[in-house]
Amino acid sequence: MSADSFDYDVLYIGSGHGTFDGAIPLSASGLRVAVVEEEKIGGTCPNWGCNAKIILDQPIALKRHLEAVHGIVNGDVSIDWSENMANKHAIIDGLPNFIQGLMDNSKIDVLFGHAMLADKHTVTIDGQTKTADKIVIATGLRPKHLMVPGTEFAHDSKDFLALETLPERITIVGGGYIALEFATIANTAGAKVDLLLHGDQALRSFPQKYVEQILADLAERGVNIKRNVTVTALEQNGTETIVHTSAGESVADWVLDATGRVPNVENIGLDTVGVAYNAKGIVVDDHLRTSVPNIYASGDVIDKAQPNLTPTAIFESKYLMQTFTGATTAPINYPVIPTVVFTSPRIAQVGVSLATALANPTEYTVEEHAITEDWFRQIARPQFGSTSLIYNKAHQLVGAVDMSEDAAEVINTLLPAVEFQYSQDQLARLVYLFPSIGFSSNQLI
Ligand code: NDP
Repeated sequence: MSADSFDYDVLYIGSGHGTFDGAIPLSASGLRVAVVEEEKIGGTCPNWGCNAKIILDQPIALKRHLEAVHGIVNGDVSIDWSENMANKHAIIDGLPNFIQGLMDNSKIDVLFGHAMLADKHTVTIDGQTKTADKIVIATGLRPKHLMVPGTEFAHDSKDFLALETLPERITIVGGGYIALEFATIANTAGAKVDLLLHGDQALRSFPQKYVEQILADLAERGVNIKRNVTVTALEQNGTETIVHTSAGESVADWVLDATGRVPNVENIGLDTVGVAYNAKGIVVDDHLRTSVPNIYASGDVIDKAQPNLTPTAIFESKYLMQTFTGATTAPINYPVIPTVVFTSPRIAQVGVSLATALANPTEYTVEEHAITEDWFRQIARPQFGSTSLIYNKAHQLVGAVDMSEDAAEVINTLLPAVEFQYSQDQLARLVYLFPSIGFSSNQLI
């Protein structure tokens, strides 16, 4: 069958970043594109993830900054949670329409409903049948749930980002991105927080010497951190939720289950058409093709080595767009992908990890710079923050970790040097604004 005999050239299942960053220019290039969405246009990141979180975090970060900065009198700043949430709604609630507008402008057909693959070119959407030459599965992840009695009494990150009132006592189970970011927000906004780690570490993919400083700071600010604690059951007692653990009870008004996420691979017809998947997601080749050659996958639903982050999904959706337009036939070639945890201070990293560098001293050297080495960076929080730079044998920068309130910008500044392996001579040609985080970051290399 020729591509013309199908309803569409490309049909995407899911409308998040794994889809729209590529689908919009793809449709604008003249291909016939449809996007199927069963919930809100834009998926997790705009509606219930990064965007919503960073809005709630704005007054949190500002409060922490005011506590540290010199020259503020009587800096006892309180967070008005309702006002903060209202601001989040004002910005976030308009995003689906905004994204839909972008899709409409590029002539994408947005189809609402639940998509099921019926055969390799056919999708049913709540009974309606559509055919496409190529199909992209971009269904993302959903929260995992504790497998204990009473698990239904816990909430997920989406619920937290919609809390109209901040509960007085919050118990958070988990020690990943969501647990640490939301513990920071809740604690700074005035809640009493219990943080339950089932092991002895949090944020395992980040340098533990930095993570431990974040945890110590949270503890000093009143977060009750319990390590090596197994949750055995949850029980609802009136308005209280009791979290039973191997080390006693944690009693809260609200419980956040932040124990990870699982791919949305069920109930979309993968078995019907023979698309291979496992517990970590859909299996793809280096062209993001699934085991069925005209069906592709994009974003967090893929089982891959790269981190499940919005920038990764955007890169994949744009790569697929280039593949579908014929602009490239090459396999996907991921760049270095930076990542940041929005604690206070933040921790961000890119490239070769500190753990890898320290374990291979013949391959890498590590230089650590305390934040106090630079007058501009120490303005706000003098004693708390540092940067580790990782060099290869040719003394090229191949990795970096930063812990500071400006960690995202520090790593953004260092990122081109890591990705493109700039020489010291090239780096010396870069002139940054002064004084600025970019200038200070570049001075480190
Ligand atoms: P993560 O995978 O980051 O962390 C899960 C945490 O739960 C780990 O600390 C893990 O501990 C712990 N855990 C797992 N099972 C249990 C259990 N049975 N009992 C107690 N603790 C348990 O997941 P998140 O939900 O925090 O975040 C999901 C994903 O969302 C992230 O991986 C990231 O891709 C994305 N995200 C990114 C953000 C950003 O870029 N800033 C912000 C928020 C989310 P252990 O490691 O010890 O097993």
